[in-house]
Amino acid sequence: MKKLVFATNNTHKLSEVKAILEPKFSIISLADLNCNEDIPETAETLEGNALLKAKYIHGKFGFDCFADDTGLEVDTLNGEPGVYSARYAGEDHNAQNNMTKLLSLLGNCPNREAHFRTVIALIKNGETSFFEGRIDGSISLQPMGNSGFGYDPIFVPKGKTVSFAQLSAEEKNTISHRALAVNKLVEFLQQK
Ligand code: IMP
Repeated sequence: MKKLVFATNNTHKLSEVKAILEPKFSIISLADLNCNEDIPETAETLEGNALLKAKYIHGKFGFDCFADDTGLEVDTLNGEPGVYSARYAGEDHNAQNNMTKLLSLLGNCPNREAHFRTVIALIKNGETSFFEGRIDGSISLQPMGNSGFGYDPIFVPKGKTVSFAQLSAEEKNTISHRALAVNKLVEFLQQK
């Protein structure tokens, strides 16, 4: 069976991807490799960070591998928080503070269009490929719902009247940026 490392410590993402790719591929996590290091995420784009993580693991362990990076890109904020989504509120960053900063910067601005974008970088047989998933939507005036994580309570997917945090995990996972990117990766791997 072909071994493929998913360069993540996020167990939720890992089980989602394993459910799709196994048994055709044996998916190895960073925990399986005893790799507890903070992999550098110093690039200024999602593509750059995904590639940095994939290259780091490929260089260190030599396995084919893939890594992902996600950001929320808000039109009127010139694509912010984007690659800085996780750390948007600075030193005191957490989901609550990140959302508060975003909502206060947007104020009552009528253009609240935004999208989530996930980029996956795959290094396989020495070749690099990228896969992107994107979901369009808008930023609500205030948080709504308690499910999910990150910016879910303030992101309303296009065509819906509720936020990501008001959808079931199952429903979110069928339409999300991450699911779309993973589906493209799976399609590519299954063709090989
Ligand atoms: P990561 O690259 O998947 O770790 O995502 C970076 C940051 O983007 C996270 O820390 C969250 O703040 C935000 N984010 C990523 N995916 C989602 C999502 O599905 N819902 C809400 N926020 C997300």
